[in-house]
Amino acid sequence: MPIHHTLIRWRQLQGMNHSRVLIKPFNKRAASEALALNRKNLCILVRLLTGHCGLSRHMFNLKLQDTDLCRLCKEAAETPLHLICSCPALMHKRSTLLGKHIMQPEDAKFLPARKVLLFLKATNACWDI
Ligand SMILES: [Zn+2]
Repeated sequence: MPIHHTLIRWRQLQGMNHSRVLIKPFNKRAASEALALNRKNLCILVRLLTGHCGLSRHMFNLKLQDTDLCRLCKEAAETPLHLICSCPALMHKRSTLLGKHIMQPEDAKFLPARKVLLFLKATNACWDI
């Protein structure tokens, strides 16, 4: 299947909102970075990108928790995107490690994988991802 057909199909897919925000399709740099990770970090990255992880939103969707609220701020659903972009409890660490107090979701997809993993490890959230 030609790449442009795959890209059109990707854009037309319903659902997978979390993945569609964080994954920039056909990005050679991102693919190279991911493939250079060890197995453990690649696993964390895939869970982060898909939202299928131990954070509250996914556990709530699986009916394993009563709430999807962020355990740090209790203001929004706890997703990898929330932690990376907007959790107020992580503002200082986000500024120090990712360069911004608040990050737009569109900017998050351009972050290098190693920076995202470093940030998540600093928040201890990677153990739930
Ligand atoms: Zn939060």
